[in-house]
Amino acid sequence: MKVTFPHMGNTYIPAKMMLDEFGVDYVIPPYNNKESLEIGTKYAPESACLPLKINVGNFIHAYEKGADTVIITGGRGPCRFGYYAELHREILKDAGYDMDIISLELPDQGIRELLKRIKKLSGTLNVFKIVKIMAMITKIAKMVDELEALTFWVRPREIEKGAVDKIYKVFQRKVIQAKGYSEIKKLILETRRSLLAVEQNEDYKPLRVGIVGEIYTTIDPFANMNIASTLGNMGVEVNRYVTVSGWIIEHMIKNALHLPRDLSYAQAAKPYLGAMIGGHAQETVGNTVQYAQDGFDGIIQIYPLTCMPEIVAENILPKIGNDYNIPILTLIIDEMTGEAGYLTRVEAFVDLLNRRRERVEGGEDLLLFGN
Ligand code: SF4
Repeated sequence: MKVTFPHMGNTYIPAKMMLDEFGVDYVIPPYNNKESLEIGTKYAPESACLPLKINVGNFIHAYEKGADTVIITGGRGPCRFGYYAELHREILKDAGYDMDIISLELPDQGIRELLKRIKKLSGTLNVFKIVKIMAMITKIAKMVDELEALTFWVRPREIEKGAVDKIYKVFQRKVIQAKGYSEIKKLILETRRSLLAVEQNEDYKPLRVGIVGEIYTTIDPFANMNIASTLGNMGVEVNRYVTVSGWIIEHMIKNALHLPRDLSYAQAAKPYLGAMIGGHAQETVGNTVQYAQDGFDGIIQIYPLTCMPEIVAENILPKIGNDYNIPILTLIIDEMTGEAGYLTRVEAFVDLLNRRRERVEGGEDLLLFGN
């Protein structure tokens, strides 16, 4: 068995660490790129979500390098995510790629079925070993998220422009070679030290922008056209509550073990959206309220075209924008999205936020200025 998995931002790091620790042979698909999307677009139904199309491209790339088994999450859920495992299976079969799919989501049959799948993947049912590796996964996922958050902080403040991007690129190159928990942890700590050593303008007060939306397009730099790095290089500090570790801990582990989840976003969303409607719509609404309450300068929502939960959220966001007097930009991505137009909208939004700040500093009433 040679395993592969889809890319979604930095999820490949805890995923490869898990397979290293279980001693499973694997192939990491090339980082998401235009070709992965083109392949996915060729085989997936036209109306399928963009993440599904990129996933298909990942699997076919990995198949060409010898992978025969795919591990994914996503076997449940009110939106199309609930059908992902089956859809992937059918699309690959129809396209002539004979690959087995193992979903690591808690299935309707319960924890026993999940353990059966873990055994199929890892060859062990040693509970001690499984728990130990789960703890390593969450630790590495958290460390990677903290590292990324550090880049969000340092990038707008760096004196030598491009210093953070340079360090992060080296990290991405080396992490592919690093094997297992200890080597990956060591590399993360080294990279953290390098980022902290970047000379910063301590007096600079950047605009702060919260990123909300569908998880794949907010987390994956190819899908969102490097929004975090683009904004950071414009001198904007970004923040994103939805993270890889949050997904693993809150969604996968706590769901599987029926542990209470952190639902502060649902509480914040309640006056606007009181129910879970699939995807991350409730997080989008709740996080938007939380960013507004925390005094952020603006919010950017990102989602793939035809994403039903985010379409609902998008229709709620203007009300939050008015209630809290905070500008919100929505960016919708599909395979036809052009980088130039996308960038122009982001630049115009940052200009708007800068002008608002100047007016506030000049003593003007923002309510008169509007969004
Ligand atoms: S959240 Fe949106 S993009 Fe993700 S599976 Fe559901 S509909 Fe598709």
